[in-house]
Amino acid sequence: MRKVSIFGATGSIGQSTLDLIGRNPDAYAVEVLTGAQNITQLAQDARRFNAKLAVTSEAAMLPALRDALSGSGIEVAAGAGAIAEAATRPTDWVMSAIVGVAGLMPGLHAIRQGATLALANKETLVAAGPLVMAEAADAGAVILPVDSEHSAVFQALTGEDIDTVERVVITASGGAFRDATLEQMAAATPEQAATHPNWAMGQRITVDSASMFNKALEMIEAREFFGVAPEQIEVVIHPESLIHALVGFTDGALMAHVGPPDMRHAIGYALHWPARQHVPVQRLDLVAMGQMTFRAADAQRYPALRLARQVMATGGYAGAVFNAAKERALDLFLARNIGFLDMATRVEAVLTQMDAAGSLRGGAITLDGVLAADAEARARVAAM
Ligand code: NDP
Ligand code: MG
Repeated sequence: MRKVSIFGATGSIGQSTLDLIGRNPDAYAVEVLTGAQNITQLAQDARRFNAKLAVTSEAAMLPALRDALSGSGIEVAAGAGAIAEAATRPTDWVMSAIVGVAGLMPGLHAIRQGATLALANKETLVAAGPLVMAEAADAGAVILPVDSEHSAVFQALTGEDIDTVERVVITASGGAFRDATLEQMAAATPEQAATHPNWAMGQRITVDSASMFNKALEMIEAREFFGVAPEQIEVVIHPESLIHALVGFTDGALMAHVGPPDMRHAIGYALHWPARQHVPVQRLDLVAMGQMTFRAADAQRYPALRLARQVMATGGYAGAVFNAAKERALDLFLARNIGFLDMATRVEAVLTQMDAAGSLRGGAITLDGVLAADAEARARVAAM
């Protein structure tokens, strides 16, 4: 039996992961499940999968979790520290599906104990990519992409020599405002922004899809995962979300990964890797699909894409600042304190301020430095 832990088990990716594990329960022993607010789901899954430990990040939720699991023999814990500590438990495979930079520490602990890390939490690589990849190499830990575009690239690269790669093209659905005018985007509400045309995902990544901050994070994630140069990474809008990514090689071949918009494909690939096993996603009917279309991702409409290139060119703590400023600006948008387009304006302003203050560049990044840059960026966004 493979020992598995799922961080962010109550979320969209976490639930899809448990769906796959639940279809083959004899193959897995669930060690840790974590959540935040959704204690009912966490307790229900902890009982169903007979987890050893259930952890909520919210200290105030500990009594509720304890009540919900009383008599089960399942250990309970609460707080960010308890989540990080849970990741030090020996485990074969860890799903990193917490949303936000809160996923960084548990992912690092999982890597340090040599677990295979299935990484949905792209924030980990955006904020601290070089550090995380170096720790994984030191510990001999494997990191497998779960983000659909990166899983697609990873699959297209299997058996290939990375030196023969000319370009990596990641696709974007265009999100909620694909066909909206700039005026409509300026006036957009959180409800409008949290409606995705193709994918069912958590609220925050859905809004990030509409602003293309999600794609901006994914450009940086691609750079960290595959070591390609920023200028080799392209973004194209593909409204049907059937091709997730393409890899272009020196001989002119362009390998496209086609799949239904169902995260269980990418999760299953990371769960079963290096083998392929049956995954119950919809089989695509090419004739019924009829066509696949592509359009340019307009930098004017999507400043996040331009900012991602700036962040990659700057290096250092620019990724940590970019991610944190985005997370805080998103909080403000969801709370209706700022408009949809103000998110990018604030993120850019914070990058400019912190670069001018000399806080972004220089030397190898450290974990303390990442956490400090993250905190400062959040404070600056809120203070504007
Ligand atoms: P959800 O919002 O659906 O789930 C987030 C999970 O994290 C929940 O378990 C939530 O707990 C928990 N959580 C929230 N805040 C904290 C915190 N501060 N500390 C610890 N746990 C916390 O998100 P998604 O599943 O959509 O996304 C998860 C990650 O995967 C993100 O990094 C996202 O970018 C990435 N991803 C998601 C995709 C998708 O299809 N959904 C696709 C590609 C990447 P609770 O619900 O109990 O409050
Ligand atoms: Mg993605």
